[in-house]
This record gives sequence, structure tokens and C-alpha cells, in this order.
Amino acid sequence: MTQALKEICEKDKPDLVVAIGPLPMMNACVETTRPFGVKTMVSLNAIMVDGTGMCGSCRVTVDGKVSFACVDGPDFDGHKVDFKELLSRQKRFKSLEARASEDYAHVCNLEKQLFVENKKNYRKIKDLAPKQTHMPERDAQERARNFKEVNLGYTLEQALGEAERCIQCAKPTCMAGCPVSIDIPLFIKHVAVRDFDGALEVIKQANAFPSICGRVCPQESQCEAQCVIGKKVESVGIGRLERFVGDNAKSKPAAPPRFAKKLGKVAICGSGPAGLAAAADLVKFGADVTIYEALHVVGGVLQYGIPPFRLPREIIDREVKQLVDQGVKIETNKVIGKTFTVPQLLEEKGYDAVFLGVGAGAPAFIGIPGEYASQVYSANEFLTRVNLMGGNVFPFKDTPVTIGKSVAVIGAGNTAMDCLRVAKRLGAPTVRCVYRRTEAEAPARIEEIRHAKEEGIEFFFLHAPVEIFPDAEGNVTGMKVEEMVLGEPDEKGRRKPVPTGKFKTLDCDTVIVALGTKANPVVTQSTPGIGLTKWGNIAADDGKPESTQATNLKGVFAGGDIVTGGATVILAMGAGRRAARSIATYLSSGKKWPLTAEDVAKFEPMKAGGGSHAHAGATATGAEAPALKCPKCHQPIDGDEQYICCGTAKLEWRCDDCGKVSEGFAFPYGMCPACGGKLKVLDPRKVEEATALEAIRIAFEIELGGQAFYTRAAKESSDPLLKELFGKFAEMEKEHMATLSRRYHAAVPAPTQDFKVDRAAIYAGIANKPEDPGNLFRIAIAFEQRAVKFFEERFGQTPAGSVERQLYRELAAEEREHVDLLTTEFERWKIGKPGLL
Ligand code: FAD
Repeated sequence: MTQALKEICEKDKPDLVVAIGPLPMMNACVETTRPFGVKTMVSLNAIMVDGTGMCGSCRVTVDGKVSFACVDGPDFDGHKVDFKELLSRQKRFKSLEARASEDYAHVCNLEKQLFVENKKNYRKIKDLAPKQTHMPERDAQERARNFKEVNLGYTLEQALGEAERCIQCAKPTCMAGCPVSIDIPLFIKHVAVRDFDGALEVIKQANAFPSICGRVCPQESQCEAQCVIGKKVESVGIGRLERFVGDNAKSKPAAPPRFAKKLGKVAICGSGPAGLAAAADLVKFGADVTIYEALHVVGGVLQYGIPPFRLPREIIDREVKQLVDQGVKIETNKVIGKTFTVPQLLEEKGYDAVFLGVGAGAPAFIGIPGEYASQVYSANEFLTRVNLMGGNVFPFKDTPVTIGKSVAVIGAGNTAMDCLRVAKRLGAPTVRCVYRRTEAEAPARIEEIRHAKEEGIEFFFLHAPVEIFPDAEGNVTGMKVEEMVLGEPDEKGRRKPVPTGKFKTLDCDTVIVALGTKANPVVTQSTPGIGLTKWGNIAADDGKPESTQATNLKGVFAGGDIVTGGATVILAMGAGRRAARSIATYLSSGKKWPLTAEDVAKFEPMKAGGGSHAHAGATATGAEAPALKCPKCHQPIDGDEQYICCGTAKLEWRCDDCGKVSEGFAFPYGMCPACGGKLKVLDPRKVEEATALEAIRIAFEIELGGQAFYTRAAKESSDPLLKELFGKFAEMEKEHMATLSRRYHAAVPAPTQDFKVDRAAIYAGIANKPEDPGNLFRIAIAFEQRAVKFFEERFGQTPAGSVERQLYRELAAEEREHVDLLTTEFERWKIGKPGLL
């Protein structure tokens, strides 16, 4: 570069040189031009961090004075810039960056190839680390004083180490333990070869919220309890890996799927896990979805129950945003049963179906004397005051929460653990858990109990509360408890607590009752005729993988805690997903009622971008074919068309002669734009259909070239009609690429900007005659003709029946059409009647 610049300065001294690029290169330019006295401007955006002039990282000495690139630049007279100083400051991140690229960017191609070919060897149980890779946690002393997240998540190295502990068993049992049947071995397989985005895609097939479930699911009693290696060593840390993937992989940008006609309008009542999961699937099935939420925030228990030190709010917000981006509408502050009723939604507001996922938010008390004293909270009230209303920062937020010196929490489920740990964080010196069974029967997650103990919570197992003592003002002064022993197992197999007749009094000034919740009757009481269970929950077809979640009322479905009573996040999500499928079946079958499990099993989702309500999998005989999905990117495949998947293909070439690397439109005819040398494709990807992938690459290149040429032609032409015409052609090329991308699951590469008309003439094989008014037309036609010829030749060279042959044929036809259109337009233009397009 400096040599070329020097030659220019020597031969034809320029007035001004503008150098843009990395600092050392700009420095080299400046030193090259200095002896010639050629003014050289440098652009110092490379040193700018925030672009506002606030951080000071962009300081630079220019002409002996401190300047700031963001404020005074970024363009400076290069001869006055102190590059030595700048370059030495730039070195500060060098070692960090080098280490990061070594650690992160290195992907063993061999491993990847073996994975793709399904030949990768996995470890034997005897070679595994016996324990799960530990997940870093915040120090117990420190965290008990704040609401920062306790678990810190795996680092890259830890996640890879844990993924290596999965032996990829031939008959994996872990999936049976997952209520939504995530393909656990497959996602871990992707993690093991550092394909985190691929892992996320696998998880998202079954669960739209991996960062949430990776944090709050009781994996130790679900998937991990069924992990094969768990019989010999500690099971694989599936939940931790799920969290790692959810937090670190890149989601595909969400956009509303385009359906020519909507499936119907669906109202979802409640934005907890059940409602969110139902909405996520319904919007993909093509429904117009609105969530009505009673509170001012979205997420249900995830927001008002589970504290932020277990589930940071930004995680919920991120997952909810994806839904909104996909087109789900959310209306907060709408209490169904008060703002409007379910019958109103169906009759007056025009909804075709309703899903009730309103949770079981009504508190349960034990009914012991003194329970109505003023310092007795239900768990819901206590947690809502803090988690939802900011009680911990009162008076800066309006809602107070009183907490004394000694808090007793009754119960030992997850809710109780949350109350205990929140009370500790609010500063109560003594916080006690009172539970009538032993630790072994406690329903809370083992990890939650461990965390609570580490944070200084005292546990009174085998103690049942009998009475709360209020003073004359109604304030709690203590609680009488009875010692228990364990007796025979109850109907659920848990040993029953048996009273001993021995009592003691615990000093306490605050009592929190965390004994589960009941169904809130606001919705059910305002929905005439809806079937209920004896506990007041909605009676719906629930509990099995094939359940429809239908209630007894036509078009009304329900799921989650409102049906089961207090359960888990993942069970609520599973119910929401089943309901979504049933609702879509109901709407696509002309509102058939009652709906059966068989009807739902036959349902095939509509295709985004298509316009038909017909089942995509229906065959000519009327039999239902299973929906085809691309095994690589998991996108549905149209009909029985053959497919090629090269999801993230990037067009990159290197010249064998001069070494130039080209991106985007990279001259499929094999000529280097700099020296005419021979181009070689970089990173030939080892996919099953390499020839087909090659065909797609070439197609994109030619289309990109066309787009770049027409854009240029539109810019250069002085005739407004030609400007418009070439603009339309550029648009046509773009649309064709979008069609190819949809059909073949290939990402459209970035457009190429720089494609000069004289170069297009060279590739088209004709002379560039700028003086000829029809020059651009002639080049365009020759350019398209060359493409026709090229694709026809390729068509002739590829084996009959191959995917690429079909593709080349299609491409030749497309280019032929372009030739015809251009020729007609040219002829009309010559006689002064252009504008057919
Ligand atoms: P919810 O999450 O209760 O959501 C229902 C939503 O409906 C709420 O937003 C509510 O405001 C709204 N709503 C109610 N009535 C109306 C109305 N009339 N109109 C409009 N909207 C309405 N499970 C786990 O798996 N792991 C855990 O660690 C865990 N910890 C928990 C901690 C606590 C404190 C609690 C209370 C529960 C915990 N659970 C945990 C259980 C889990 O959170 C629930 O099983 C799950 O949230 C149920 O989901 P859902 O969608 O059915 O209901």
C-alpha cells in the first residue's frame, strides 16, 4: 500500500490523500506522504468508543494539543497526529484480545466435521468427571445483603467441560424427564462443538424461554433425575447448560411471521409462563394474539413471586420482547372478569378462542388462632410488596413493607425459601423456617435450601405452628409450635407428620405464611357455566402429553396453575403449548367442538408466507404426511420439494495470484477484480449437499452482481426513466434472492456496493461505450445473457435429478426472463415509449 502511494506521489503528486483504516496503516500512509508534503487527512474513528466525547478514550495529541476524536474529529491532518502515543495506548487490550480469540474463536474443524457426519466419539462413563462442573455463585455474606443474582452461570470453558460429560447415549432417558421434551442430547452435542446458536435453535423447538427455565426449573427432579450417567456419577448439569445457551447464544432476530390470512383472533388471559408459552406458539401458527394481564407488568409469578436474585428482571423482559417482536400484543392493567368478561371477549370483542392462564394467585392461610394479627403476611403479599412494588426501596417507591427483628416463615417450598431469603435481604437479623416435616420432604429445590442455609436462615424442621400470639395492639409477639415426628406415608408417598404433644414458643415479630395458593375466583365467577374442580380450579382436559386443555365451554381453553393448582414453571409452559396447538386445531377445523386428542394430533401448522389454510402436510390421497423440517436449521420445508440448507453461508473468495479476498459479489466467473487472477472459494463448508450449496453460492453472487450493477446504473443514468427502470431491476434481483433464501434456507449475503459499469462490461464480454446513450441497456442485456449461458452450461454439467440441476434450470429461466424484459424495454426506449415495467 505504501509502495503504491509513494509511486503516486512521485509520478502525479496529489493535492490531498485521505487515509482510512487501522492506525498502523494510517500511520504508514502519513509517513509515506510526509516527505512529499502532500496533505494527508486521517480518520480516527478507530479510537472512538461511545461516539459522544464523554469517555475520553478518543483523546489524541494533534499539533501538540489534546483533542478528542468524537468532538474535534474524527478527521485530522495526519501529519500533526501523534501516532506513536496513540499506538502505544492501543496496545493495552492486545493480550486480552489475543487470549479471547484463542479461547473463543478457535473451533476445531475436525470435531465439527465429525459432528456433522455423526462420527464424533463421546466419552465412556468411567472417563467422566464424577461431579457436575460447579457453577460460580456470589459469596453468601455479600449476597444476603442485596438482590443481585446469586448464581453466576457457566463460563465458556465450564460449559464446554460440562457438555463433554454428556455421553450421548443411544437411548437417552433425560428427555422423558423434561415436561416439554427438549432434545437434550442434541442441544448438548451442539454445545460440545461450540455451536451455541445451533443449540439454542434445538431448545427453542420445545421451549421458547431457556434462560428462564435454565434458572428456575427443578431439573434435579426432572431431566437430570433421569440422566443415564446419574446411576454412576453426578448427572449432567442440563439446566446449567440450558441457561448458558439461553444467555449466550444469539437468537434469530424475531419478526412477525407473514400469513396471507390469519388463523383467527385469540385472547390469552394472564401473562404467566402458561400464557406466554401459549402466545409464543399461537403467533407462529398464524393467530392474531392478544394477552390481557391484570398487573402492570408481564410474567406472572416470574415477576411478582420469584425474586430478582433468582431470576433477574432483564431476562424476563428480553424473552417477552421477543414475543412482542413476533407480533403478540400485550395489554396490561386489564382484569378479565372485571374490565371485561370471557363471554364479552368471545361475543363482543370478536375473539375466536380464549385461553385462561390466570394462575392460582389467591393466598392460603392455615387457620390457627392469631393468624389475623397485623404482622402476619401471606407469601404473595410479602413478595408482591417487594418484587413488584419495590418495597425494599421504600420511600423511593410508594409501597412499604414492615419487617421486624425476627421473622418466621411457615412452609418449606420454593415460595417459602423466597420469603426467607427476601426477609434476610431486608435486614431481619433472625429469619426462621418452620416446617412440620423433615428436610427430605421439603418441596423446595435442594439448591434453594442450600442457598438459604448459607445465607444464615435457621431451619425448624418437624415443627408445626399452632398459634400466633398478638399483643394488645395486635402486633405479633411470638408463635407457639408443636414438635412432630414422621409417621406413615400419605397418599402421595410422603411420610405424615404426627404431633408429639410437646410445645415451645418461638420469639418472632413477623410471620409469613407460605403454604401454597388457591385459584383466584375473579375469572371463574364471571364466566357462567365454566366447569370447576372441587378445589375451585378450572376443570380442563390436562395432565397428559396428548391433553387438549379444553374446558367444557366452546372455544375456551385453560392451563397452568389455574388448572393444576400451584405447580412449576415448566409444567405451566407445557400446558400453554398444548393449548396453543389445540386452539390452532380448533380454528383451522372450522371451530369443531368438542375437540378430541386425535383431531389435535393431526394438526399441521400453516406455513408462514403461504396463504392457505389447508394442512401443509396433506397428500393427494388426503392422508396426512408428517411435516418436513430441515434437519440443520429446523425450518419447515415447503411440500415435498428437495431442499438445501446452508443457513449461514457467507460468500468469500481469495485470489490465488494476488491474495485479494473478496466478499459479497465475488465474480462467479472466477476472475479477480484486482489482477484478473483465479479465485478460490474460502472455507468450503462440509455439508451433505456440497454441490447444491455451491449452486446457491453462485446464484447469490450473480444476483448480487446484478443488483450492484443496476443500482450503479440507476445512479449514473441522467435519464429519469432509466433511473427508475434500473432501480426496479435492482429491486427484482433483491426479491429473487429473498425467494431463494426462503426456499433454500440460505441467508442472503450483504449487497455489494462497488460495481463499476466498465467492469460489468468486461464480465458481460462487450465494450463499454459511455458515449452511446443505450450503453447501460446493452451492458445489462449482455450481462443477463451471460448469466443465462452460465446457468445453462451448469445445468448441462450436473447429474439428472440432482437438486443443483433443478436449481440451475430455475436460475437460467429467471435470467432469461430478465433478458426478455430488458430487450423489450430497450426497444420501446429507442422509439420513445419506455416504462412498460
Ligand atoms: P402465573 O405465573 O400465576 O401467572 C398468571 C398471570 O395471570 C399473572 O400474571 C396474573 O397477574 C394474571 N391474572 C390473574 N388473574 C387475572 C385476571 N383476572 N385477568 C388477567 N390476568 C390475570 N416454579 C418453578 O418451576 N421453579 C421455581 O423456582 C418456582 N418458584 C416459585 C416461587 C414462588 C414465590 C411462587 C409463588 C411460585 C414458584 N414456582 C416455581 C411456581 C411457578 O411459578 C408457577 O407454577 C407458574 O408461574 C404458574 O404459571 P401460570 O402461568 O399458570 O400462572
